[in-house]
Order: sequence, then structure tokens, then C-alpha cells
Amino acid sequence: GSPRRITVLGATGSIGCNTLDVIGQLGGRDAFEVEALTGHANIGLLAEQAKAVGAKMAVTADETLYGALKSALAGTGIAVAAGASGLMEAAERDVDLVMAAIVGTAGLAPTLAAARRGADIALANKECLVSAGRLFVSAVADGGGTLIPVDSEHSAIFQSMEDDQRHAVERIVLTASGGPFRQMSREEMALVTPERARAHPNWSMGLKISIGSATMFNKALEMIEAHHLFAVAPEAIEVIVHPQSIIHSMVGYSDGSVIAQLGAPDMRTAIGYALAYPRRPKLNVERLDFAKLARLDFEAPDEARFPALRLARLAMARGGMQSAVMNAAEEVACAAFVAGRIGFLAMAEVAEAVMDEMIDWPAGDGMQVVFAADAEARARAASRISRLERAA
Ligand code: NDP
Ligand code: MG
Repeated sequence: GSPRRITVLGATGSIGCNTLDVIGQLGGRDAFEVEALTGHANIGLLAEQAKAVGAKMAVTADETLYGALKSALAGTGIAVAAGASGLMEAAERDVDLVMAAIVGTAGLAPTLAAARRGADIALANKECLVSAGRLFVSAVADGGGTLIPVDSEHSAIFQSMEDDQRHAVERIVLTASGGPFRQMSREEMALVTPERARAHPNWSMGLKISIGSATMFNKALEMIEAHHLFAVAPEAIEVIVHPQSIIHSMVGYSDGSVIAQLGAPDMRTAIGYALAYPRRPKLNVERLDFAKLARLDFEAPDEARFPALRLARLAMARGGMQSAVMNAAEEVACAAFVAGRIGFLAMAEVAEAVMDEMIDWPAGDGMQVVFAADAEARARAASRISRLERAA
């Protein structure tokens, strides 16, 4: 058939680069016509990518880098834009599929815009579901596109859940690697450096999600994502630590059956599934060798050392803007930890304190309501972090 038109939001990131690799594997320009690519700081890579795939447009989210991108693409005929309006322009181009892989709350507005336009959404960005779950799910429904999860756990669940068996779903079991500090005591965790926290044992990922894996905040976000994506009650969402990261998640049914999706820890499988959906693509990724694996281990997560899981349940039970607040406060705390300003354990403490402070914050499903709660949570987290710093 004719190539599918695709836009990649966050092309220069870990997911974005893997997406371009998968596009190449699926046939490159014969299979995909790349409309727009977006990035932020990495102008050199963005320009290189845009030329390599023959994109029609390249956008940097950073307005001050417009000139740099423009000159990097001079004479190529590739349109250039920058800033929030540039991101929106990229997101609203007429395409069949948008890969949503901008990190953080910055991904919210452009991904929502793409959903409203009716493109299918391959969703990697977590904030769309965590901070604006209902708003986002209804935007996709109104637009008429299909929402295909890219996060490996949700891709696994999506692959393990047949539409005509949804009524029989009893539980969702999210697997977690446990991160680099799975077996570390709380005392040791208090002293870890950002360098140690970002070194994930199994997956190679962006900075924020790597830290989120060490705190298990990433799993907390994924619990909330699963709640919105698959319309399952919070009580039906379990987390199990599975250090090998081979089982990517599971669905338990009313007959006692559990269906799982397995694979090497390589995001290209989930990305390829989303890009080729509903057909399974042929991918050059590692095949599992079960004899070599020999075993798959499981253990219950320790919520005393990983309070993020408890906070996710708290956020879902409280409702309102608590998920958005948790996410925003944690994003700020994560940046402060990476900058060496606060300790590892303080990240969850800051998030919980801000959640408590904002328990009665006005709720709603509009984008402005989400942005207001997000901004307030960031401000409160920032002032809490300054106070912690002064006290230290
Ligand atoms: P990266 O940090 O590697 O990449 C983020 C992308 O977003 C880059 O293209 C970056 O541009 C761009 N970006 C950064 N800040 C802004 C901003 N303010 N405005 C617009 N664009 C911005 O992240 P990942 O690829 O790891 O993750 C992307 C998303 O996917 C995250 O939400 C993450 O949680 C989720 N995810 C990632 C997984 C993984 O394996 N990496 C797995 C599952 C989900 P530049 O680099 O040019 O500055
Ligand atoms: Mg994941």
C-alpha cells in the first residue's frame, strides 16, 4: 500500500531514536512518509534525522534555537519552526500516526492536539495519561484515532488483552525490574548518587525514566496509566518485581488464566508493535534463549523502601488532581536530585508532602485545570526543596 504518514514528537530522545530505527527496519521511505520531527536541545541530531528520513518539517521546542536549526537545514527544503506554537504545528499536521515521545508535561498539549485531529497515537509520554487521563482518553475517542501504548508494560497488556475478553479481565499484573537499588537498604538508599541511580540494570532509557525506575516512581506512573488505558479499577492493578525484565506484564482472567507477553528488554519491540498495528512486524531484535535464561524470578515490592507505589494508590484513591500533582512534584524533585540538591529518599517525601498540601485543589478535566494544578505542584515542590537545602 501507500506509505503511512507519521510525525515523531520527541524524535531526538531515546524512544524517538528507537522509533527512527524501527521505521528503517519496517521499510523506511517505502513504508513511512515522515511529516514532522521534533526535538528540544539536540539541534545537530534533529537536523541529521530530518535529512536522513526526508522529513517535511523539523521543530525545536526551544525558541532560542530556531536560528541554529534553520541554518543546520538551510538549502534542504525542510520547513523549520520553534517553540510551543511550532510544536503544535507539527502535532496538527495531517498524518495517520503520531509517535508521542516528548518527555514530561511538555508533551501534553501537542499530544492532545494530535489526538483531537484524529491521528492514531503511539503513546510513550506518560504525563498524558497520568496528569490528564480522562481528558486524553476522550480526546482520542472524539478524534476517532486508535491509542496504542508504547510503554513496554502497557504494550504487553495491550497484546495480552483481546477486545472480546475484556469483560473477563480480573487483574493486571505490572512487572517491575526493581531498578538498580532493588536489594539496597533504606539507609544505603539515602546516600546514593545520581550517577548510580541512572544506571539501569536492564533497559537503556532517558534520564528521567531511569531515575524513576530507581525510585519506582516510573511504576507508580504506570499503575495510573494502566488504570486509564484499560479502564481497570486501581484495586485490580498489581505490581510484581521481576528482575530479569523478560515478562513485560500480564493480564489475569476470570478463569484463572494469566496471559503474558515476553521479550528481550528492547523498546523496539513495543515501538514496532505500535507502528505496525494491527499487524505484527518483522524486527531485527534479540530472540529469547530460554535455556540460557534458565529462570525468571518474582518478588513482592517493598513499599517501605519504594513509597512511590503507595503514593500512586493514594493518588488514585483520592482522585481529583492528585495524580497530576504527584507527577509534577516528582518531576521537580527528580531534577533536584539529579542536580545534587536533595537526597534520593527526599524525592518521594517531597511528592507526598505536596500531594497532602494540595488534597483539596480544585479538580476538573480541562487542560487549563491540569496546567494550573501542575504549575502549583511544581512551585510548591520547588519551595520545599529550597527549604530542605537550607536545612541541610
Ligand atoms: P528522552 O529524555 O531520551 O527524550 C525526550 C525527548 O523530548 C527528546 O526528543 C527531547 O529533546 C524532547 N524534549 C525534552 N524537553 C522538552 C521540552 N521541554 N519540550 C519539548 N520537547 C522536549 O526521553 P525518553 O525517550 O526516554 O522518554 C520519552 C517519553 O517516553 C517519556 O515520557 C518516558 O517516560 C516515556 N517512556 C520511555 C521509555 C524508554 O525506554 N526510554 C519507556 C517507556 C516510556 P532533546 O533531546 O533534543 O532535548
Ligand atoms: Mg515501562
